[in-house]
Amino acid sequence: MDKCDSRTRLTITVDEETLAKAKEVAKRKRIPISRVIENFLRFFADPEVYCFKCGEKFSVKEAELCPKCGWMICPECKACRCGLSEEAAIAVFHMRRVYEELLAGRVKG
Ligand SMILES: [Zn+2]
Ligand SMILES: [Zn+2]
Repeated sequence: MDKCDSRTRLTITVDEETLAKAKEVAKRKRIPISRVIENFLRFFADPEVYCFKCGEKFSVKEAELCPKCGWMICPECKACRCGLSEEAAIAVFHMRRVYEELLAGRVKG
C-alpha cells in the first residue's frame, strides 16, 4: 500500500457531539481522526469480511452469493449458511448486522 502520497482534502459536516466523542477515542488510541475516517471509507468502498468458518479474509465484492441461502460463499472453503445449524446461522446473522448498520444497507446483494 503506497497510495499515501496522493492525499486529498475532505470537508464534511457531522454531528458535533459525535465528532467530539470520536476525537476522544481517537486520542486515546493515538490515531489521527483522518485515519479513522479513511479506514471507514476504505471499508465502505470495498468491505472485507472474515469467513465464519475458516477465518479467511475476503472481499465482499469478489464473493459470490449462494443461490440457495443467499449468503456469501467463502472463496477459500466454500462455506455458506447451508452448512450451518439453525443456532449457528442465527449467531452469524446477528453479528453481520453490525456490518450492515455500518454500511447502511446489506453487505452484499
Ligand atoms: Zn472459509
Ligand atoms: Zn448456501
